[in-house]
Amino acid sequence: MPPRILIVGAGLYGATCARELHDAGCRVHVIEQRAAPGGNCATRHVPEADCHEHVHGAHIFHTDNERVWRWVQRFARFNGYTHRVKVRHGAQLYSFPINLFTLHQVFGVATPAGAQAVLARERVPIAEPANLEEQALASVGPTLYRLFIEGYTRKQWQRDPRELPADILKRIPVRLDFDDGYFNDRFQGIPVGGYSAMFDRLMAGVRVDFGVDFLRDREHWLARHDHVIYTGPIDAFFDHGHGRLGYRSLRFERELLPLADYQGSAVVNHTDAAVPYTRIIEHRHFERPEPGRRRAASHTLITREFPQEGGPGREPYYPVATADNLARLARYQAMAASLVPQVHFGGRLGSYRYLDMHQVIAAALAHVQRVLDTPRHAAVASGTEP
Ligand code: FAD
Ligand code: UDP
Repeated sequence: MPPRILIVGAGLYGATCARELHDAGCRVHVIEQRAAPGGNCATRHVPEADCHEHVHGAHIFHTDNERVWRWVQRFARFNGYTHRVKVRHGAQLYSFPINLFTLHQVFGVATPAGAQAVLARERVPIAEPANLEEQALASVGPTLYRLFIEGYTRKQWQRDPRELPADILKRIPVRLDFDDGYFNDRFQGIPVGGYSAMFDRLMAGVRVDFGVDFLRDREHWLARHDHVIYTGPIDAFFDHGHGRLGYRSLRFERELLPLADYQGSAVVNHTDAAVPYTRIIEHRHFERPEPGRRRAASHTLITREFPQEGGPGREPYYPVATADNLARLARYQAMAASLVPQVHFGGRLGSYRYLDMHQVIAAALAHVQRVLDTPRHAAVASGTEP
C-alpha cells in the first residue's frame, strides 16, 4: 500500500509537499485550521479596488533559484512586477534600499566614487558585527542607521537592535549605483489572479479538509499515518512544555479610499519611530491591468502594518531568533527526533526560521526527495513495491 502521509497546514510548505507526494503516488491528506489554503500568502479579490488584497502583508515572489522558478510557473503566470520601495521619514521621502540616489538625497554626492567616499567616512570599523546595530554601523554608519534602520527595526521587533542578530539586515542591499530594486534576484513577480488562485491549482486533486486543528486530536492523526509533515509552530506541537518560543505578530488596518492612487507605490516604509506603523501597502500597485483592459475601480485599498508581540490569539508571523529562543528550539528539536511515527517539522513555523517563499519551496522539495528516497516509498513510487 502507498504510504499514508498527513500534512498539517495548507501554506506554501504543506501545499508544495502535498503536490509532489500526491503526484508520486502517496496517499496524502492535508488538514488546515483556516477556511482556505495559502497560509500567509493568501489573497482575496476586492472588487471596489479591482485588485487582490495581500491579506497577511505584502508578498512578492523573488528568487535566483531557476529550479524553484520553473516549478512555480506550473501553477501561476507571474506579472513581471519588480519590487521598489520608498521610505518616508518625517516630511521627507527617500529612495530605498540605500543606493546612489539615497546618498545624493542625504549627503549631496552624485557619483559612485562620491558615494564610496561618503560611506568610507561614515562606516564604523567593526570587524565582526555581533548584532543588528553593529551590522548597520559597519555597513552604512550612524547617519543612515538613524534615518532608515533604527526606528523601523525598533518598531518591527520591539527590541533594542543590539539584541537582534546581524543576519536580519543582510537581507537588504546597499548599492553605489542608481539601482533601487529591493531584491537582487533575477526572477520576481506576483501571480496574475492572486496567490490564492495559485494555491487552488497547486492543490488540485489533493485531499484537503479545512477548519481542522491538528492539535485538538493529535493522537488520532498520529495513529493513522506513516509519516506526518507538520507546518504549525513547533512549540505548540509540544504544548509549550519548554516554554513559548518568541514570535512577532502584526495588526493590519485596512482602508478603502475613494481615490485612484494614494501613494504612487506598492510599499512606503515609515522609518520614523514617532509613526506607529512600519509601512503602508497600496495593493493596486502589485498588479498591472492585462493589455487592452482598463482598471475598473472606484477605490484604492491601503493597509497600515502595526507590529505587535506574538501570543495567544495572534498570528505568529516572524520567529525571533534570540539566544534564548534558539536554546528553547533546540530542546523541542531533540523531542521531535524521537517521535513515532516520524514527524517532520517544516516551513517557517515548524523550522522556526525566517524563510521567504522561494526558500520554503526549495526546502519542501528537498524534504519530498528525502521521503521518496526512503526504500519503502521509493518502491511505491516506482511501482516495484513487494
Ligand atoms: P504558513 O504560511 O504560516 O502556513 C502554515 C499553515 O499551517 C497555516 O495555513 C496555518 O493555518 C496552518 N496550521 C498551523 N497550525 C495548524 C494546526 N494545528 N492545525 C492545522 N493547521 C495548522 N516571503 C517572500 O518570499 N516574499 C515576501 O514579500 C514576503 N513577505 C512577507 C510578509 C509578511 C508580513 C510575512 C509574515 C511573511 C512574508 N513572507 C514573504 C514569507 C512567507 O509568508 C513565507 O515564506 C511562507 O508563507 C511560509 O509558508 P509556510 O507554509 O511555512 O507557513
Ligand atoms: N529594515 C529597516 N528599514 C527599512 C526596511 C527594513 O531597518 O526600511 C530592516 C528591519 O530590521 C527589517 C529588516 O531590515 O526587519 C528586513 O526587512 P525586510 O523588508 O526584508 O523584512 P520585514 O522584516 O520588514 O518583513
